[in-house]
Amino acid sequence: MIIGTVKEIKNLEFRVGLTPGSVKEYVSHGHEVYVEKGAGINSGFPDQEYVDAGATILKTADEVWKKVEMLIKVKEPLEPEFKFLREGLILYTYLHLAANEDLTYALLKAKTQSIAYETIEEDGTLPCLKPMSEVAGRLSAIQGAKFLEKPFGGSGILISGVPGVERAKATIVGAGVVGENALKMLVGMGADVTILDINLRKLTYLDDIYSNTIQTLYSSKENLELAIKRADLVIGAVLLPGAKAPKLIKRAYYKDMKPGSVIVDVAIDQGGSTEVSKPTYHDNPIYEVDGIIHYTVANMPGAVPMTSTKALTNATLPYGLMIADLGLDMALNRSRALKLGINVYNGEITCPGVAEAFNLPY
Ligand code: NAD
Repeated sequence: MIIGTVKEIKNLEFRVGLTPGSVKEYVSHGHEVYVEKGAGINSGFPDQEYVDAGATILKTADEVWKKVEMLIKVKEPLEPEFKFLREGLILYTYLHLAANEDLTYALLKAKTQSIAYETIEEDGTLPCLKPMSEVAGRLSAIQGAKFLEKPFGGSGILISGVPGVERAKATIVGAGVVGENALKMLVGMGADVTILDINLRKLTYLDDIYSNTIQTLYSSKENLELAIKRADLVIGAVLLPGAKAPKLIKRAYYKDMKPGSVIVDVAIDQGGSTEVSKPTYHDNPIYEVDGIIHYTVANMPGAVPMTSTKALTNATLPYGLMIADLGLDMALNRSRALKLGINVYNGEITCPGVAEAFNLPY
């Protein structure tokens, strides 16, 4: 199959759909790969590395879109890219169509075969979303510790304390992939960590692993309120699949928190878990409400593209290879995970969530 990737055009998006390592894999399976000039540079991959891996560099995105049978990206196509959508083209990327009516209709009209990373599902997990939650979870601890510093408006507490001086108290709301990864980092940094969830199995697992070094709490209203009020750093990491994040972190709690405490609301991409969360960008990531610093960047992994691109392509490669090796139709027949990933097929919606969002037949 002829495969390719282009430079992302979304503001401050530095990831890329293929690494030189993944190019090598496709080429070793007998596929042809085309990469737009400079596509990987922001993720640390110069053109020469793609050439060494067996790819051909093309000067413009236009040339790549027109040349390939399967276009592998990171973000959904933006309006200036709609003109490249065409019948028979396989588009393999994050799509988030339920929140994007224009793109949904553009893909339907063009009859582009569209596979969304975020709906590929295997054994009850979302393998192409998980690595980004791992990155965001780990990064949330680092950002939280940083914005606790006084020059950023934080309270000025060092996350680990020092001998003879108390450590910072961190509260993580949600013990899923984000929460667990934030926990790992915060324990490593020496914080005094409390983690809450409504899933007791997860709390039992974490209690076994971390023994007496952390506090697990069932996420009742009372426990939440107490754990948030005593925290220097709160990480919002809740997910209700397919729904908006619940506003568990109430503004009313702020008056009892220490001024300069920090809330890193990772769940901002689902609407956020505080009552005052609004999305921010990497170039101006924080704002203050009632003395509390809020960090609410909706694409946190974009800040560390060197890591995120590798983590993402590790997850997308096996399914991409399946499509390239077998052809789309046979790959869909063989893999239930991929079948759940296809959102638009032959000009029809094939994902119930997207059909529902726009009242379209499914
Ligand atoms: P996950 O499904 O692995 O974990 C969510 C956890 O929340 C589950 O353990 C669930 O039991 C728990 N939960 C549900 N209701 C709760 C409640 N009332 N109290 C406490 N816990 C509760 O999801 P995840 O992969 O960890 O993602 C968490 C959030 O982070 C999602 O909203 C996701 O979209 C977001 N996210 C954001 C970024 C970003 O860049 N901002 C990146 C990756 C993920």
